[in-house]
Amino acid sequence: MTDIVDDIEIVERVYDPYMDLYAIFGRAVDAHPEPFVLAWQKRGKSTLRDVVRFINEPSAREEFSEAAIGDITPDNPIFQKDDQKETVYAWEDVNIYPYAKEIDKHEAFDLLVKVCGDYKIRVPDLIIAEDEQDNEYLSDTHTIVLKDMDDMTLLHEIAHAIVTVNAENQGREHVAHAPQFVWALLDLYRDYMGMSTQYMVASAEQKGLLGDTNSPQLLSPQRFNPEPN
Ligand SMILES: [Zn+2]
Repeated sequence: MTDIVDDIEIVERVYDPYMDLYAIFGRAVDAHPEPFVLAWQKRGKSTLRDVVRFINEPSAREEFSEAAIGDITPDNPIFQKDDQKETVYAWEDVNIYPYAKEIDKHEAFDLLVKVCGDYKIRVPDLIIAEDEQDNEYLSDTHTIVLKDMDDMTLLHEIAHAIVTVNAENQGREHVAHAPQFVWALLDLYRDYMGMSTQYMVASAEQKGLLGDTNSPQLLSPQRFNPEPN
């Protein structure tokens, strides 16, 4: 790869679909005294952030290896921003909601139990929204608040529960509506609403919601476990 960003040649990068960013190992193109670089880049943005410099390559490589399993994450709050949220909603309104089915409280609970059983996660508490409450998954209490009584809305909140639990199990950070979440949504809409994957991928891809599936992906520390003890 010969991408040069901010005078840094990007030698290697891994993509994190939970955060929608790249961890980057690079090298300064000018005669910088600390030429080796670990940095982060938001997908679709043209600048590097949280750049850390190194005099020698091995120490930079070592840090990059830790970044590539999510052990080092960027501090910059810009990476915590839930940039895709409105686009995900807009995509669902147009492409999924027309196929949604109304459900009552019992059907909602049955669907919740079924999906959580299939995904082997603890069933969240289900609360039907009152007054000002909106559809929401509350990770602190593992609770889904449901205002709109339809299967699409419930599956959306279940996807939040699934991705949150998975991220926690893997000890990694995540942004609520990042590509990993959208992929979870597609699976749920396919399996529990009968939606076509091809149709969903095409429309979601067009909106840029699916992240970068071509670059090497960030591994979780669990998957990166070379030494059995
Ligand atoms: Zn959401």
